[in-house]
Amino acid sequence: MQRIFLFWAVLGCLSPLILSACTACTTRTGAPETTRAAQPNVVLITIETLRADHVGAYGYARNTTPNLDRLAARGARFDNTVAQAPFTLPSIASLMTGQYPPGHGVRNHPAILAAEVETLAERFQADGYQTAAMTRHTWLRRKSGLDQGFDEYHNNKFSAGLDARSLSLAAVDWLEARDPERPFFLWMHFLDPHLPYTPSYPYSVLYRDENADEPRVKHLRSMMALDRENFEPTPYADIPGGPYYDLVFPYYPDNPALLDLAFWRRSRGSIFFGGARYRAEDIAELGELYDGAITYTDDNLARIMKALAELGIEETTVVAVTGDHGEAFGEHGLYFTHDFTLYDEVLRVPLVLHYPAAIEPGTVISQQVRLMDLAPTLLELAGIDPATLGDVDAVSLVPLIEGGSLPFLKAFAESAPRRHMFPEHKRVYFDGNRGSGAWCAPNGGSSSASLTPKEISTSSTTS
Ligand SMILES: [Zn+2]
Repeated sequence: MQRIFLFWAVLGCLSPLILSACTACTTRTGAPETTRAAQPNVVLITIETLRADHVGAYGYARNTTPNLDRLAARGARFDNTVAQAPFTLPSIASLMTGQYPPGHGVRNHPAILAAEVETLAERFQADGYQTAAMTRHTWLRRKSGLDQGFDEYHNNKFSAGLDARSLSLAAVDWLEARDPERPFFLWMHFLDPHLPYTPSYPYSVLYRDENADEPRVKHLRSMMALDRENFEPTPYADIPGGPYYDLVFPYYPDNPALLDLAFWRRSRGSIFFGGARYRAEDIAELGELYDGAITYTDDNLARIMKALAELGIEETTVVAVTGDHGEAFGEHGLYFTHDFTLYDEVLRVPLVLHYPAAIEPGTVISQQVRLMDLAPTLLELAGIDPATLGDVDAVSLVPLIEGGSLPFLKAFAESAPRRHMFPEHKRVYFDGNRGSGAWCAPNGGSSSASLTPKEISTSSTTS
């Protein structure tokens, strides 16, 4: 396999003789001298439904993520990272392939990533890496096609409501049992921050308003479809823009209420678009539970970092932590979900890279990047030619990590054809001016589904 060593060349390790024993590399930006592995391990942690602005390192008022913040302080923090879809499978497929959804073909739930599409795991596996994936997410199950390139793909083996704990314990077991002579690529997807926001105690009360009254909590549980007997749904026909939704959503197979599809369909409208029924306190209360689930996940992230340190491989392991998409809390008429719009709250995710051997502590990158750019970035950090992914949309972010520059990176995102909250958002993209609210629909929003991101990026945009 063709290998490029551009990264090392930039670091000053110009001689191939040095590559095999590059024990004193100093980055151009002055990172501490430390041992740099010829083939570092790579740990990729994706956190479900994690919006960037609820992460401490991204300026959140609550101390939700002390462990992720510490990782960011010791590595690189990307301040403006845009997911390529506001829901799980297309977004993760973009991350794993370096392609926009029209490129990899996964544009809805459910969908299957075609075998001929090159994935990050396949590239690591082809380069001799041990590869393992751990996720309990329904849409990320093996038959989604995301299992390509993984020696082991663990799915549906973890306890509901305790996903991050069981998953991180399983990951530590795997780390201890792996072949220490070969590098590895380990991907974990933590599910806990997703609706219905049910962190276990004490995370359930961590950010609780001391004055919260129990009737209010009951009301909220009802709104979240957890208290079926007391739930009074908005009639399906009354849903703005509805009826719009007819997919199965078996996220929580251990919650009987959510297995009742008729109930689920009726209730979704009131839950996600029923803004008039929410009070500000209601939204705040659910935000507290969401934040509790984030902190719970963050505490389990610490378990992974502790294991890497105890195994003596923290220095030789690239750790990437990000989210698959964000979550809406009523900013634009959408509540407690994410699929249906393309605003910052559902697309802007955190992205932290930790690799002491090559990343200067406290590196902050403000330039906009795309979540899919992580695929070529991780390959280049591992000394694997990103071009082996094929002709992809993503670019390696290594130049930014090293203090260099890249051209402005336009960010395209799309929701799914059957999930559009507003008809004019059937296929929506934005021109890269994140946060401007300038959402654009090519051709007036009527036939944009036929356009590829590359066509869109070269077409004139209106906002
Ligand atoms: Zn997701």
